[in-house]
Amino acid sequence: MTDDRQTLDRQAREQTARELAALNDRLMAKNHALAEALTRAGKELTKAKSQLSQLAQPPLTFATMVKVDSSRTDEMGVTHASAEVIVGTRRMIVPVAAGLNASRLAAGRTVILNEKMVLVDQRDHDTSGMVRTVTEPLGDGRLVVADAGGNASVVRRASTLASHPFDKGDRVIVEASGRIAVDALPRANDADLVLEETPDVTFDDIGGLDRQIERIRDAVQLPFQHRELYARYDLKPPKGVLLYGPPGNGKTLIAKAVAHALAEGDGFGERSGTPGAGGVFLSVKGPELLNKFVGESERLIRLIFRRARERAADGRPVIVFIDEMDSLLRTRGSGVSSDVETTIVPQFLAELDGVESLGNVMVIGASNRVDMIDPAVLRPGRLDVKIRIDRPNGDAARAVIRHYLTDDLPLEGGVDADALAGVLVRDIYTRSPRRHLADVRDEHGVWNALFLADVTSGASLKNIVDRAKTLAVKASIGTGSDVAIGVDLLARAVEEEFTETRDSLLDADPVQWSRVNGFDAGAVTAIRGVEH
Ligand code: ADP
Repeated sequence: MTDDRQTLDRQAREQTARELAALNDRLMAKNHALAEALTRAGKELTKAKSQLSQLAQPPLTFATMVKVDSSRTDEMGVTHASAEVIVGTRRMIVPVAAGLNASRLAAGRTVILNEKMVLVDQRDHDTSGMVRTVTEPLGDGRLVVADAGGNASVVRRASTLASHPFDKGDRVIVEASGRIAVDALPRANDADLVLEETPDVTFDDIGGLDRQIERIRDAVQLPFQHRELYARYDLKPPKGVLLYGPPGNGKTLIAKAVAHALAEGDGFGERSGTPGAGGVFLSVKGPELLNKFVGESERLIRLIFRRARERAADGRPVIVFIDEMDSLLRTRGSGVSSDVETTIVPQFLAELDGVESLGNVMVIGASNRVDMIDPAVLRPGRLDVKIRIDRPNGDAARAVIRHYLTDDLPLEGGVDADALAGVLVRDIYTRSPRRHLADVRDEHGVWNALFLADVTSGASLKNIVDRAKTLAVKASIGTGSDVAIGVDLLARAVEEEFTETRDSLLDADPVQWSRVNGFDAGAVTAIRGVEH
């Protein structure tokens, strides 16, 4: 019995122990889960807290460092420094955080101010800002710079530029307040400013301008050919020639042909160039120069003439061709741009007056608005030979066309190029309704009919022939044989040119259109279409 009881007791104890152990396991697991949940909650809390504090953080301010203003150490050995900075356009003195090494703060660098306007951090210098052109590096390191309008100001250099060798014409980035140059930019490329070529255009390539070519030959060639005679009669050769008239009629062609002819030494005597070396044609476009180099116009004028002298040094004749000269050498007092009037014209005159000693250099200007050019430029001894290059009349047009419509082309049987040119000219120059482009009103309120002939230029004649050639090429593709150019194709080409010219005319601003096309001021104040 006792044995039985003992057995029962043991069994009961063992049962209890097992139950207790199981309970313990469950409790342990629960505990573990709770602990994990607690840790997770703790983490969430920390995250939320940091998000909250970030939301509540006051903004920091960017500023540009100017200089450390003062730095003193107190009795406790702590350094107190302040700095002059620029915030936006405001100049301020701010304290420098104690942890920051004030001696490392450098002019021009970006610095960070906290909400109490304490300088707490230094970054690299800004890489963006306003572009300015250096007009004068001052002895004390400051720079005189100019903006696109030529307005000058003085700026200090960032510490990174302290020993940068600045030259007139260099470009810098100036920070927003306009007080400090923070970075140097590569120089604007001078190389693409002045185009240089050795032209192979000859006077024979130019149609319909025989009289004008003869004049330029007299003006340019004779003095080259007969230098002694000119000297004996104390006759000074011209330094330059002005070609004027509407665009696209051969001004550039003539200037190039002069450069070529002088180099050919075509009877030009001792002043002719080295045979075979070719003439040098330096060309610049007035408006391009102005846009690119506002504020440093003198440098640009010097640059052109220096280049001319360099090229002429080895005996090659040099033509300096200035296209759209009126924009660059505008009448002083016209008030359009102070820069042009006050610096470019005098600088140009000074260089031009020095041309005499340059020997082989000649200036040829082109303009469709001669009335806009400063009269001083056109005075005797300067660009005193003025030659008008007008739109071609019928005869001249025929001569121009013959340069592009030649006998060696596939032409319709039975007609020669000259006959075709004649037909073409009649079609272009007729003053009948089918070539009536539009009506234009002049400054007196009078409406005049404008015909295709009134706007035809050497360039547009070439264009018409090119259109006919294109039509022929297109028609030839796939047919396996050359499609000949004939009356029909040419008529289609004129029709295309007429339609395009009319459409662009009706879309144009009248005043602008008349200026671009070389009409006198006031000739066209309004344009209206006509019913066809
Ligand atoms: P611009 O008078 O504006 O200087 P260009 O001499 O540049 O005119 O002429 C533009 C183009 O028109 C020339 O390259 C040439 O193809 C053509 N052209 C103009 N005039 C003539 C001409 N008289 N003879 C032959 N081609 C001409």
